[in-house]
Amino acid sequence: MEITRTIKYEADRVKGFGREVMSVPGCEQLESCIQCGTCSGVCPMSIYMEYTPRQIMELTRSDFKKEVLTSNTIWLCVSCYACTTECPREIRITDIIYELKQRAIKEHQYPRGFPIPVLAQEFSQMVYKNGRVAELPLVMKLFLKTNPLAAMGNWRMGMDLMRTGRFTLASERIEAREDLQKMLDAIDAKQG
Ligand code: SF4
Ligand code: SF4
Repeated sequence: MEITRTIKYEADRVKGFGREVMSVPGCEQLESCIQCGTCSGVCPMSIYMEYTPRQIMELTRSDFKKEVLTSNTIWLCVSCYACTTECPREIRITDIIYELKQRAIKEHQYPRGFPIPVLAQEFSQMVYKNGRVAELPLVMKLFLKTNPLAAMGNWRMGMDLMRTGRFTLASERIEAREDLQKMLDAIDAKQG
């Protein structure tokens, strides 16, 4: 993957962004990052990332909101926690990346056509609405919103999955969905 680097200017900063992230429980330690690069060194995905974990930590702390939220880094993180385990300042890098993902989804600031944030959003909406995930509608929505042509290329695999019972056209719903929705709303309200 070709990585492009651009110069960052003072005017690109969104003052207060770093503070906001660091005010979330579990993210406070970011303040003490010494930019040692250990997190980038142990991260199995860093070679594919636009910004390494070390860079994402500094960009976050320094208020470069757009760069952080629109980068592929937060979506390529596989939550292996290697960085968090090794960080000499005990910074919970993985949890900070989760927080950044949530913000990116809330503000629709993810890389255009990039499937992972769309999948995460559709997944959570489906759980909210039905209490369960139906794979086929989920995959169809994902293709339609990211790469409709890819759906045609994958129709045979979809048929095979339906034939073997891995995919179903039926959409399942739990009972008492309202209770689940109340719980999820309460969590959302708590997170602000
Ligand atoms: S390992 Fe920790 S202290 Fe070092 S750059 Fe990464 S986040 Fe900062
Ligand atoms: S948790 Fe994410 S950022 Fe940290 S090492 Fe694993 S993939 Fe890399």
